[in-house]
Order: sequence, then structure tokens, then C-alpha cells
Amino acid sequence: MTQITELTFQEIINSLQSGEISSHQLTKAYLKRIEKLEEDIHAFITITEEQALTQADKADKRFAVWRKDKTQPISPLLGVPLAVKDVLTVHNIRCTAGSKILGNFVSPYNATVVDQLLDAGMVILGKTNTDEFAMGSSTENSAYGVTHNPWDLSRVPGGSSGGSAAAVVANMAPIALGTDTGGSIRQPASFCGVTGLKPTYGRVSRFGLIAYGSSLDSAGAIARAAADIALLFPMMSGFDPKDSTSVNIPIERINLQDNIMPAQLRLGIPKEYFTSGIQPEVEIAIRKAINVLESLGIEIKEVNLPHTKYALPVYYLIAPAEASANLARYDGIRYGSRVDSTEMWDIFRKTRGTLFGAEVKRRIMLGTYALSAGYYDEYYGKAQKVRTLIKEDFDNVFKTVDLIAAPVSPTTAFKIGAHRDDPLAMYLEDIFTLPANLAGIPGITFPVGFDSHCLPIGIQLMGAPFQEEKLIRTAHAYQMVTDWHTRKPIPN
Ligand code: GLN
Repeated sequence: MTQITELTFQEIINSLQSGEISSHQLTKAYLKRIEKLEEDIHAFITITEEQALTQADKADKRFAVWRKDKTQPISPLLGVPLAVKDVLTVHNIRCTAGSKILGNFVSPYNATVVDQLLDAGMVILGKTNTDEFAMGSSTENSAYGVTHNPWDLSRVPGGSSGGSAAAVVANMAPIALGTDTGGSIRQPASFCGVTGLKPTYGRVSRFGLIAYGSSLDSAGAIARAAADIALLFPMMSGFDPKDSTSVNIPIERINLQDNIMPAQLRLGIPKEYFTSGIQPEVEIAIRKAINVLESLGIEIKEVNLPHTKYALPVYYLIAPAEASANLARYDGIRYGSRVDSTEMWDIFRKTRGTLFGAEVKRRIMLGTYALSAGYYDEYYGKAQKVRTLIKEDFDNVFKTVDLIAAPVSPTTAFKIGAHRDDPLAMYLEDIFTLPANLAGIPGITFPVGFDSHCLPIGIQLMGAPFQEEKLIRTAHAYQMVTDWHTRKPIPN
């Protein structure tokens, strides 16, 4: 018999609307599944059982009214559970950002995306694990313990949205929110064998997203299939006066029924992304997926993104520089927890010295150095100029193709601890994902195979700004003719 937590997103929506299951039942089933697996996987920092059941009951009441009078339409997401990465605030719920410094921070407000999805009737199951302040690629930098990859518990789920990706693939949530500053939605989605969308910078509000690198941060979705993201994404995007970088380009409904494949799509393959250093099985699976896309009618073209090799150093100057400025607010006085002392400077020193983790301190030091007088032009200023060149590479390529295909990460999920003493090796994990953040463009990843250890392999498609619909529809077309996205690591 199919368990409730095995229902696909569309089946959930149909069963809720037909009354076959209630949101209360569905929410209970997910909470039970979380309880069963959390000890092994540890996808959550906070589970919000009580609030979830209250939201579910509210959704059920709305369904009851609607069934009597269907003239007032309901949101397709009414009563559907959601997991939220613990860097997005939810009113009256603790928001830690994976850090001890926010260990006692209960948010007085909702992030705009959370507001939008609660308005759509969704039910929040809990807050998922993340690297501290989203700095990392493995969730090992969380102050609340590592998340384990459901495909192999001795491996990382990727990061920083590792809790969200692990929760979705282990059926602990049907869909989840993540954030992506340099790959934090796409890489964990790839490591866990699920689908992840990083939207165009500015398309989704950053209000209530705890800032890491403000010119790079974007909130997006992690789901079992592109079709699920097609339903969620329009509901979480749109202009927000509370975010000064929010853009006013409304997104219409994404209609997957129209025709399977966007007509006459051209897909660029950048040779700079297929260099040595990629695990051979990863490259083979990606090339096969490109062949599948070609067989669906997409035209394949080789393209060049010549400044790709500078993306990693540029990112690791700009992101820490912005982080060092953003994290200055955690001084033990205005925000977060405090280590007390009789002297002000001593409070700052002790609070920041004890409550920030090692990676966060490393980034603050790197960023402060890059911004310091005498070095600003040489490091931060120069990085900004090269960032423009990277963006221009993409602008040029999108004159001749609609989308770009690339690996997500050079490897599949690595062992917990493998990069613990080698930050550079960890930073190299992001080499294929961070260019999209530097350029502000959208990217989607979805599973295209497995390696010899039975670990999922993902492909990444990038698009020109505001082309999320093309990305989602192309991923959906691929998922209509393949079944990698339906594979599951843990039986129900
Ligand atoms: N791994 C990258 C970093 O540590 C990206 C993280 C992210 O996208 N939040 O900065």
C-alpha cells in the first residue's frame, strides 16, 4: 500500500482537494516520518509540530468551505507541508542560521517568502539544517550537528541547504525552501538526487533571509520534481517593497501542459566546465543527459565562457567581504546571544570569539582583509571588475543559446570529514555553481544518474535572467522521459 508520504506532489494536491486525505492527516504522516528518520539523518534544527497542526487544521476548514461552494478558488498549495531552511525567518519560531550566536533568536516576523507561502495555505513542518550562516558545502559547519546523506549515512548531503535536500529525498517533507549564494540549493539537490531551483537574483524577496553575501543571496526551492517547483515558484516570487533589490517582473503561471518542450531551444555546452578534475562517472552521466535533451529536439552548441577560471577567487573575495560586513551586527548587544563581561570590547570579543564557528571566523577575517584600507582596490575592487567580465561572458553566450548545461559539482557526495582540514578543497566543490550567483542568473539542477557507489549525479542548466520557466520546463521534459528523480534511498 502506498504510504501518504510517498504520494507525489500532484497526488497530494488531488487527494487534499478530493477530500481523500486531510491536511491534518498528511501533516501527521510527515511528522511521524520525521520522528522515525531524524535520529539517523538529522535534517532539522527545529520541528514545529504544534504550529504545523494548527496550520493544517486551518487548511482543512478552508477545504470544507470550498467543497460546499467552489466558486471561490483555493490555492493549489493549500494544506501542503513545507520545510524551511533555517536562514529564513518564521514568526515566533527560533531561527538559528545554523549558528550558536542565534541559538535563542525567536523571529518577530516572517520572511516575505514564508508569508507568501503561508498565505497560499502551506503548512510549515520545521526549520532545516544548514551550514552556519549558509557558509559551506556540506552542513558540517552547522553548530547543530551534521546532516547525513540519506543515500549513504557516512556521507554529507551537500550544503549549505543540506537539511532541505535530505528531507525531500527521504520523504520527510514533500518540498522545501533553500537559499543559494554560491551553490547552496543546487549542490545539495545534486548530492541528494532531487531537483533544485536557484532563481534570478532579485526575483524572490530576500526580506527575512539572514544575510550572507547580499549581492549573491537568493531563496529558491528543492523538490522531488521540476513539476512541483512549477507550482511553488510563482507563489514565492514577485516584487517586494521590503527588499530594495527586488524586481518587478511578475511571473505568470507556469503551464507544463502546453507543449512538453519549449520550441527550438538551443543548449550551450561550455568547454570550460568540462575540464579535468571531474569525476569521470559524473561527466559520463551528464553527457548522456545532454543526449536525451538532444533527442527531445534541443539543438546543442559548443560555447565559451572564457573568464570561468576566475570565478572561484572572485567569489571567495566578494562573498567573505559582504559576509564580514553583514555579520558585524552580531556583537552581543543588538542581536543574538551574548557572552557577558563588565567591559564593552570584552563583550564583543568574547561573544564573537566563542559563538561564531571556525569557518565563519575565517570568512570574516578574509573579508575584512579584502576590504581594508590599502587592499580594497587590489582585492575587493578588482574582484568586482572581474565579476563584470564573468557576467559579460554569460550575456554574450545568451545571444546565441537559450540555456547552458554544466556539471553541478565535480564529484558526488563525499564522506563526512573528508574536507574538514582543507578549506580550499571544500571551496573547490563550488566551482561550477558560483558563476551563476556572480552573474545573477537562474539555475536548475536535477538528477541524471548514479555513480558506482549508488550516489546521485546531477546536471545543472543555467538560463538568462528571468528565464526560470524555460529551465523548469526543460527539466520537466527530461523528467517525463526518465525516472532518475523517482528513485528513493530509504523505503517507507
Ligand atoms: N559553498 C559556498 C560557500 O560556502 C556557497 C554557499 C551558499 O550558496 N550559501 O560560500
